[in-house]
Amino acid sequence: MSEALDYDVIVIGTGAAGLSAAALAAQGGASVLMVEAADRTGGSSALSGGVFYAAGTSLQREAGLEDDTAEAMFHYYMTLNQYKLEPALVRTLCERSAEAFEWLRGLGIGFTVDNLYSSGVDKIRRGHRATDGGAGIVEGLEGFLSGRNIDTVLDTRVETLLVENGRVCGIVADGAPVLSAATVIATGGFGANPEMLAQLYPDASRYGDLHWYIGAPTCRGDGLGLAAQVEGQLSKANRGLLLITPGFVKDLESYLPGWLMMVNRDGRRFIDETIEYSVLAAVLDEQPGRDCFAVFDEASRLASKTTKYRPAPNWTADRLLDHVEAGTLISAPTLEDLAGKLGVPAARLATTAERYNSLVQIGNDEDYFKPSAMLRPVAQGPFYAAHIRPAVICWTGTGIRIDTEARVLGADDRPVPGLYAAGETTGGMFGQCYAAGGASIGNAVVFGRIAGANAAKEKVNA
Ligand SMILES: Cc1cc2nc3c(=O)[nH]c(=O)nc-3n(C[C@H](O)[C@H](O)[C@H](O)COP(=O)(O)OP(=O)(O)OC[C@H]3O[C@@H](n4cnc5c(N)ncnc54)[C@H](O)[C@@H]3O)c2cc1C
Repeated sequence: MSEALDYDVIVIGTGAAGLSAAALAAQGGASVLMVEAADRTGGSSALSGGVFYAAGTSLQREAGLEDDTAEAMFHYYMTLNQYKLEPALVRTLCERSAEAFEWLRGLGIGFTVDNLYSSGVDKIRRGHRATDGGAGIVEGLEGFLSGRNIDTVLDTRVETLLVENGRVCGIVADGAPVLSAATVIATGGFGANPEMLAQLYPDASRYGDLHWYIGAPTCRGDGLGLAAQVEGQLSKANRGLLLITPGFVKDLESYLPGWLMMVNRDGRRFIDETIEYSVLAAVLDEQPGRDCFAVFDEASRLASKTTKYRPAPNWTADRLLDHVEAGTLISAPTLEDLAGKLGVPAARLATTAERYNSLVQIGNDEDYFKPSAMLRPVAQGPFYAAHIRPAVICWTGTGIRIDTEARVLGADDRPVPGLYAAGETTGGMFGQCYAAGGASIGNAVVFGRIAGANAAKEKVNA
C-alpha cells in the first residue's frame, strides 16, 4: 500500500491535540495532512484560558517549588475522583505533563511565575497559565509547524474513515479518498451537538434552552462517529465540565460572588459558597433538584461590585436591579415571602439565615468554613435570590477509549490498526469532579504528542 499513500499521517482537527500530533508526526519524519472543519485552526483550544496542568516543571522550580512530582499529581487526581478513572491514562497524563510543558515553553510560548497558581481545589501550584491564553498556545504550535512537511486543509469536515482489512488507511475529504499509513482523530468534544449531549452527557441537557456551550461550534463529536465506524469503544458517559450560572445572561462568568448565601431546595446551606466551580457543580448533583438558590439582602446588593480577581460584571448593584426587572433575579420584601416564591420551607430558610447571621457576627463560618471576608449578613429586606444551575457546557469528557499509546481501542479491547485519538475527543481521564483547570489542555498536548509520534512510526507498517 505504501506507494499509493498520499500522506504518512492524517490528523483530523487542529486544536491543541491535533497541532501537537502533527508536530510530533512531522518531527518523526512523516508527511502530514491536517484537515480542519472550521475556516481557521485552533478549535476550542484557541478560545481557552490556556492553563496547562503539570507537575515537576521548570516554572515550578523557578517559583521555589522544588519537589512537586508526577506521582503526587497522580494521587491527588485519582483521589479527587475516588479512583473512578482509567489509572493508566491518568498516570501517563501526569508523568508526561512536565515534558509536554517544557516542549511548549521551548516553542517560545510565554509562561511566567506570576501566572503559576493552584488551579481547581488543588493546593499545589500546578496551573500554568500561558501569558497569551489558549490563543498563544495555538500560535506557538503553529509557529513550530510552519515550514515543515505539513499540508493544511480548512473548511473540510471529515465524516468517513477508509478501512481495509480492519486497518484504517485514510479518510474521505470533500468526497475524495486520501490514503495514509495512520490517522489521528483530534476533533475535540461534542458540546455543540445537542443530540449527542442528550445521549452521552444527560447532565448537560437537563435544563433545555438554559444550557449553552462556550467552545468552538465545530466541536460536534464527529470523532466519536468516526471511531464508531471501526467499533471503537467509548468511555463512561456523563462526563465533562458544567459551569454554574444564575441564568442572567449568556455571558461566561466562572465565579459567583463569594458573599452569597447558598441554600438548597430544603432551605439549608450545603457548602462553602466560595468553593471552586468544578467542585460546586459536582456537589449540586447531590442536592434535591440538583440546583440551589443564592440568597442575599439589600445591603449586600448595594455593596456589590466587580473585582479584578473575581470579575462578576453581572453582580453589580445596578445590574442586579436589571435582573429583577427581567425576571431572572427573584426579589421579595421579607425572607418569608422570598421562601414562598422559591418554594423552599420558610421556617427553615429563616433558621438558616439566623444561623448564618450569627456566624457572620462572630466572623467565623463554623459550619462550612467560608473565608471570613466573604461573610455578609442576610438581614435587611428587600431580599433577593438567584436560581443557580450547572448549565454552561465548557467541555465534554466522554469519548473514544484509547490506551496509553493513544491507540483507539476496538470492540475486542485491541487497538484498531492505523488509528489514534487524542484530546477532548477521548475519554477516561475525567471523573465527576474536574481535577483542576489545565487538565484538558494538558490532556490534549500530552496525548496529541504521543499520538503523533506513534502515528509517524506507522509508515513502515503500511
Ligand atoms: C472558554 C473555554 C476556556 C477553557 N479554558 C481551559 C483552560 O484554561 N485549560 C484547560 O485545560 N482547558 C480549558 N478548556 C477546555 C480545553 O480548551 C479543551 O478541552 C481543549 O482545548 C480541547 O483540545 P482539542 O485539541 O482536543 O480540541 P479543540 O481545540 O476543540 O480542536 C478540535 C478541532 O477539531 C475540529 N473538528 C471537529 N470535527 C471535525 C471534523 N469532522 N473534521 C475536521 N475537523 C474537525 C474542530 O473544528 C476544532 O478545530 C476551556 C474550554 C473553553 C471552551
